[in-house]
Amino acid sequence: MSVDGVTIVITLKIGRRIMRGLPSVVFLLLVGQVHAEPQYDLLLRGGHVIDPRSALSATRDLAIRDGKIAAVAAAIDPALAFKTVDVAGLYITPGLIDIHVHVLTANGEPRSAAAAAGVDPDGFTLRSGVTTVADAGSAGWRGFDDLKRRVIDRSQTRVLAFLNIVSRGMRGRDLEQDLDDMQAAPAAEMALRHKDLIVGIKTAHYAGPEFTPVDRALEAGTIAKIPVMVDFGDDYPERPLAALLTSKLRPGDIYTHLYSGLRGELDPTGHANPALFEGRKRGVLFDVGHGGLSFAWRVAVPIIQEGFLPDSISTDLHTGSANGGMKDMLNVMSKFLALGLSLEDVILRSTWNCARAIKQEQLGHLSVGAVADVAVLRLERGEFGFLDSYAARLRGNQRLDCEMTLRNGRIVYELNGLSRPDWTTLPKDYRSTGDPRWDAVTKPGTGQQKVPVRPPDKK
Ligand SMILES: [Zn+2]
Repeated sequence: MSVDGVTIVITLKIGRRIMRGLPSVVFLLLVGQVHAEPQYDLLLRGGHVIDPRSALSATRDLAIRDGKIAAVAAAIDPALAFKTVDVAGLYITPGLIDIHVHVLTANGEPRSAAAAAGVDPDGFTLRSGVTTVADAGSAGWRGFDDLKRRVIDRSQTRVLAFLNIVSRGMRGRDLEQDLDDMQAAPAAEMALRHKDLIVGIKTAHYAGPEFTPVDRALEAGTIAKIPVMVDFGDDYPERPLAALLTSKLRPGDIYTHLYSGLRGELDPTGHANPALFEGRKRGVLFDVGHGGLSFAWRVAVPIIQEGFLPDSISTDLHTGSANGGMKDMLNVMSKFLALGLSLEDVILRSTWNCARAIKQEQLGHLSVGAVADVAVLRLERGEFGFLDSYAARLRGNQRLDCEMTLRNGRIVYELNGLSRPDWTTLPKDYRSTGDPRWDAVTKPGTGQQKVPVRPPDKK
């Protein structure tokens, strides 16, 4: 029998009282009959835990209680857990954080690009191990309430947002060019009103030669004390990448679409633009933002060979990228394995680095007490091909797949049912295989409900 510390204390207290009048043999029998209430709701047993914040990469058991990480140890007794799942051979990582997605779905507005391109997050995230996303500027301050009401408040995925400096957000390139519609004060005010959800300011798609959109975004970011993410729009000699990275952006601001090659990331000699290294020295962060047009092997390979890795790996998920070379977070992560990064380096750039970039340091790690957003990943070995935004292929021999995703300590997705019984072992009329303590797949509660009984037909 195994008992936890609390139970031992209780039994000793009971024991002392009992022992005043009873022989010790009876006491021992009584102790033997005291059963511990499970200390943990869920135990993931035997997996390889990669937790970049604590530099942990080793076989560990991980226990969860009340939606939080309760213990990470070499061996945790399954008798202490209400539910144990064997995940030997798999990797346990913090829930992945994708800081560049577009999840503002159709709002009925004609000509709205965001409406045409945004996807519902839950359909793409949980099955890829992603538990947190940041929408990258689909909405501006005039549209944020709509994004919140229709997407943020209704998704199982934790949805955060960069607010577009354009008041109405991404409605299509021609509707995102009005400099008068890029005002710092109302954007900052909205960001301050929703500090828990708005993690940054976004500028994107600007087609003119001025720095004005970047300046206004920086102004809003400075007022609200949040970072700015820059999609640098069209390439102009009047506003070169070097000026953005070496003088405009502040430490902690984020340059996205790093490997697009659309704005001089690769210089004409075929080398990484020296401004990238200069920017990094100043504390500027660099994000992948794969998307439909923003990741090319001919750019990524030479830049990475010169040692310039991304700070954060992200998808730029939208309808134009989801079925092309991008696909999903794990596919983009697998590309970096194919480029020679270690699994630990890839997980760092998909979890803890991302949490730090958006100043959500309560996320992205597996420390005891942290929210139990967890991914259980399988590293498959074989012959794989990875496409860039132009559908050019790079071969690789490893691919990450998602076996299980936990959000707030409960399973929200699983591929092979590692946590479930075979149907043949269940009662003939089974209706439930989970428990609300660890299961959010089977809509806890519904499995327990009685089937409505139809009143007997009157004859
Ligand atoms: Zn984007």
